[in-house]
Amino acid sequence: MPVARSTRRVALAVLGLLASLALAACGSSAATTSASTSAPPAASSATAAASTGSATAGTAAPASAEGARATGTANATPQALATGSPRAGIAPQRTSPLAPRANRSGFVVALDPGHGGDESGAAAYGIVERDSNLDMAQRVGEYLKAAGVQVYLTREDNGRATGLVTGSGDNRNATRNDLQTRVSAANRMGADVFVSLHSNGGDPSLRGVEVYYESRRPFADENYRLAQNLLDGALRGLANAGHPSNNRGIIDAACWRNFNGRCVGLFVLSPGGETTGPNGQPGPSKEATNMPAALLETLFISSPEDAALLADPAVRSSVAKGIADGILRYLGVPA
Ligand SMILES: [Zn+2]
Repeated sequence: MPVARSTRRVALAVLGLLASLALAACGSSAATTSASTSAPPAASSATAAASTGSATAGTAAPASAEGARATGTANATPQALATGSPRAGIAPQRTSPLAPRANRSGFVVALDPGHGGDESGAAAYGIVERDSNLDMAQRVGEYLKAAGVQVYLTREDNGRATGLVTGSGDNRNATRNDLQTRVSAANRMGADVFVSLHSNGGDPSLRGVEVYYESRRPFADENYRLAQNLLDGALRGLANAGHPSNNRGIIDAACWRNFNGRCVGLFVLSPGGETTGPNGQPGPSKEATNMPAALLETLFISSPEDAALLADPAVRSSVAKGIADGILRYLGVPA
């Protein structure tokens, strides 16, 4: 995020940077957040923005190289993105002009296996989140494809989702670029939803499923509805496998962490805008998702019981089916 002539901009920049770092430590999220099952947020972002001192989704973000990298089979020509505008209904209009709908059919779901490369997320009892997330995303993707939905994975191996920053020695930049790549690529794919798949870490006694959404986006109500469907789906998948689990609820990521009195969100969910580097120099403008997004934390790798469930292919398959069904339900597509 560019710097920042004003204090507010500096604050936003720091928040953006921290957000990228925050997600790198996703496994510890449980220790810094509290579950909430409060009613869905108002669609308006004004109130939330005011309460956090943060701007809502940034204006047109420039096309970036990282977005062009992962265009896959889509006929996506890098160009300026439209701003994120309010979306309503089950099949909200795309705000990205990049995907020629005439050549495609149905919905596009961006599945984001959290972490990657040397940023491996939570790890315990033989489960490494980076790898487990990818396996889950692939399983979910197969169910979605069987229902006629196009699937885009933000990474398809266990490396980072970026080639922009390698060997720089600055892991913060690498992580930030990795995360921006995922968001930008999903935008360029014209995805209808963005679902980031993770598993949690924390105290060994913590167990269950929780989902993050962002209240500061113009389509916060859709974020919440997506999160609700993901939560219901994952819990149903666990129950169907014979392992009813703890419902930890839906959590607003707008204040995922508090930094000097400021709220820090999760990078892949939070609004776009300006950033700055750790030394105060201008950073790249953050591009936010153009589509509703949520981040699912399926079970705790740090729990021996939950880790055992994650290690069981039958459980994983049932959970993946549940997650896919939740996404389909959100989209209004028959499972
Ligand atoms: Zn994670």
